[in-house]
Order: sequence, then C-alpha cells, then structure tokens
Amino acid sequence: MVHSYKYIIVGGGVSAGYAAREFVKQGVKHGELAIISKEAVAPYERPALSKAYLFPESPARLPGFHTCVGSGGERLLPEWYSEKGIDLYLNTEIVSADLAAKFLKSAKGEHFDFQTLVIATGSAVIKLSDFGVQGAGAKNIFYLREVDDADKLYEAIKAKKNGKAVVVGGGYIGLELSAVLKLNNLDVTMVYPEPWCMPRLFTKEIAAFYEGYYSNKGVNIIKGTVAVGFTTNSDGEVKEVELKDGRVLEADIVVVGVGGRPQISLFKGQVEEQNGGIKTDAFFKTSAYDVYAVGDVATFPLKLYNDVRRVEHVDHARKSAEQAAKAIIAADVGQSVEEYDYLPYFYSRSFDLSWQFYGDNVGETVLFGDNDPASSKPNFGTYWIKEGKVVGAFLEGGTPDEYKAIAKVARVKPAVEDVNQLAKEGISFASKI
Ligand code: FAD
Repeated sequence: MVHSYKYIIVGGGVSAGYAAREFVKQGVKHGELAIISKEAVAPYERPALSKAYLFPESPARLPGFHTCVGSGGERLLPEWYSEKGIDLYLNTEIVSADLAAKFLKSAKGEHFDFQTLVIATGSAVIKLSDFGVQGAGAKNIFYLREVDDADKLYEAIKAKKNGKAVVVGGGYIGLELSAVLKLNNLDVTMVYPEPWCMPRLFTKEIAAFYEGYYSNKGVNIIKGTVAVGFTTNSDGEVKEVELKDGRVLEADIVVVGVGGRPQISLFKGQVEEQNGGIKTDAFFKTSAYDVYAVGDVATFPLKLYNDVRRVEHVDHARKSAEQAAKAIIAADVGQSVEEYDYLPYFYSRSFDLSWQFYGDNVGETVLFGDNDPASSKPNFGTYWIKEGKVVGAFLEGGTPDEYKAIAKVARVKPAVEDVNQLAKEGISFASKI
C-alpha cells in the first residue's frame, strides 16, 4: 500500500514536533501532513532524558514532556496530532529514500509518497564499538539518545542501587549524567581524555568551577585518558573499565557520552553535504527539489557570523523546524519568508546548577563573578571578545533578566574598551546594553 502526503517529516524528535505545530499554525489541512518516526512515542523534549527523566524521586515521564513544553508552549499529546489531522507513523523506520522519485520505504515494507519532505532524523550516538574498544558490547554499558535508552538506564540504576558507575565522556551529556547518577547514590567516576570538561565551549576557568563543584559532590574525575577495554562477569555484565593509562575501575554501570553523528546515510549522494551535515539555505531547503533538512542534520548559513554551521542543540532544532515549515507553506503560494538569523544558544542543568551561553566562543575571554565551587550561590560568567567586540557570553546561576541581557549582548556585539573594566562590571555590563 502506498501512503501519499503533501508533506512528510521523516524523524519524530524535537524538530518534528515543532515543525508540526508550525505547519498547523500556517493552516495545513487534515490529511496533508505525516510524521514518520522509528520511536514508539510522539515527539518529545529530548533534553529531559539526561535530567529529570533519571531523577530518583518523581522522575519526569511522558506525556509530561512532549513537545512543545520546553519552549513554554502547548503540549502536543498524541491526540493533538489526530485532532489536527496529522498522521503519526510510530515504530516506523525509513530504510530507503529516493528523493528524485519522492518516495520513502519503511522497514515494514510500507511505501510513502511526498510532495515536500522535511528530513529531521537527528543524530545517532557514537559507540565505543565504532572504535573497536574491547568488551564494548558488555551488558550494562549504556548510551543515551532516545526514551528507550533512558528506560534501560533507569532500570539498571534501580537494579544496581549504591553500585559503581563510570561515565565515559566529559561533554554536557557526561556532566549531566554524572550528576544524575550521583543523585541516585551511585559511586560515580567520570573519565575523559581532554585536560578539562566541555572543552568545545568551556574555558579552563569555567571548567575548573564545574570540576570543583562535582568533586565536592563526590564525583571522581579522571582526565587525560580513555577507556580502552571492559571486562565482564559470568553473566556478561560489565565489571571493570580498563583505561589507557593502565588504571582499572570497577563498574556496575557504564554510561558513554562521546558525541553524536547526524543520521544522513539514507540520503547520501542525493543531497549536497557540508560540515558533516546536509547543506541547506537560510530556509532549510536542501539541494534536492522540495526537500528540506532541519535540526541536528542541517548545515545552514549562520548570518550573524557570515559562516555555515551545523548545530546540535535543542533551541536550533525548534527554530529551524519552525523556519522550514513557514518557508514551505509560503513557497506553496509563491511567497517567501525572512532568512533564518540564528543566535546560537546552549544551556545545561545539573545538580543545583544551571548555565546558558549565547553567541560565539571565539577570541579572548574575560571571566567575571564568583566562580568558587564551594560558594553557596555560584554566580559567574565569561565574555568572549573578538576584534574588540563581545561576541559570546556565558552565565552560571543567572536570573531570567540576566540571561536575556547576555543574549542581547551576543546579538548586539558591543565594543569593549577596557577588559579589566569589563571583568569588574561583570553582568552589569550586559544589563546596560
Ligand atoms: P532528534 O530530536 O534526535 O529526533 C530525531 C528523530 O528521528 C528520532 O525520533 C529518531 O528516532 C528519528 N529517526 C532517525 N532516523 C530515522 C529513520 N530512518 N526513520 C524514522 N525515524 C528516524 N540540547 C540542548 O541545547 N540542551 C540540552 O540540555 C540538551 N540535552 C540533551 C540530552 C540528551 C540525552 C540528548 C540525546 C540530546 C540533548 N540535547 C540538548 C540536544 C538536542 O536534544 C538535539 O539537538 C535535538 O533533539 C535535535 O533535534 P532533531 O529533531 O534534529 O533530532
């Protein structure tokens, strides 16, 4: 049987949910739109999985965090899709795509025709087995991308009460997971090869705060080395993590967060690629006719920096999806929308901490505020300065108004005359802009 739709979104994650809401706002008619997802549940706010989903008390569960609650919007329950006449194909993996013939095929053998396609397939985790790490297939070694992965990890946390956990990777997933495992009373050790955590964003000084704070909470941190092998017990469960520097760590649970890869293999050779993603224009249109790509898979023009980027963060997933849906509907009636003009924004939360970052982390840095990890109310930040202008700003422990102020600074890019004065002024510099 062939299912025919005017619009199909392949992938049922963050972008798909936000795109669906925007399609409805733009007046999409019943029966025109379908979402095809290999997950078993309607689109949800993925960031919850490494945070409240794993809390020891009252963990977040669906339907509590379906899109679009993360942005303060209406919660799109599965019923919402049927009320709006959107067909949701769950547990349906697309295994081949012919973009020129406008045709998709699922693993179950269903065929889908589309006039316009939105690719929203997100990222897949990079696995240690991809690097041939010995024993990486042992039981109780987890990765976290989808709700299904989170359920398995949650079960293991319960089963291995008061046990030992090793977290491989020092990025935001590693940091968030270490915190939540500690909250679950596990004995947690983080291992990462870099000299400090989150090196893609954090300066040495920012990282020193988080490492100090985590240590004070009882998280052990081992830097400058990697996991090279795992041993198992007679049940095939992970027992030890072998590190390159020769150390061996006992482990009941291992969680790996070493990055993701955009899921674009279905479309290889059919769309132009750039920076590891699918190349799009400012409307998220790809090189293939009537095919758009949004969220983690899209490499798009970042107007603010006259650059092209691929961004693996939720805010961009939401906004790119909305932009594409608006552009698609406008194009149908021969109109166009304004170009995407994105201000990069990332955030993370763990323990009692919460930070936000806006802009670009390039150039010289200026630290301000109280970054003592032992402080009862940590509140500090960093500005990035390029060619005499503030281009990026990070803030831990800010108020909603202060976060708005750093977003504005990153957008306006004010000139800085005296960096010592900027360090002294701290957040009040941003608040004045
Ligand atoms: P996704 O949300 O990953 O959705 C992709 C969907 O496509 C999935 O449902 C997948 O199953 C489906 N799919 C893939 N291939 C197929 C196929 N062939 N057929 C059918 N369906 C398919 N960002 C932040 O800014 N802050 C955070 O705190 C934060 N926390 C995160 C925590 C975790 C645990 C994870 C995994 C990510 C986090 N992110 C965070 C990143 C953010 O969630 C992603 O950038 C965002 O989800 C990307 O949206 P997307 O729609 O592109 O992809």
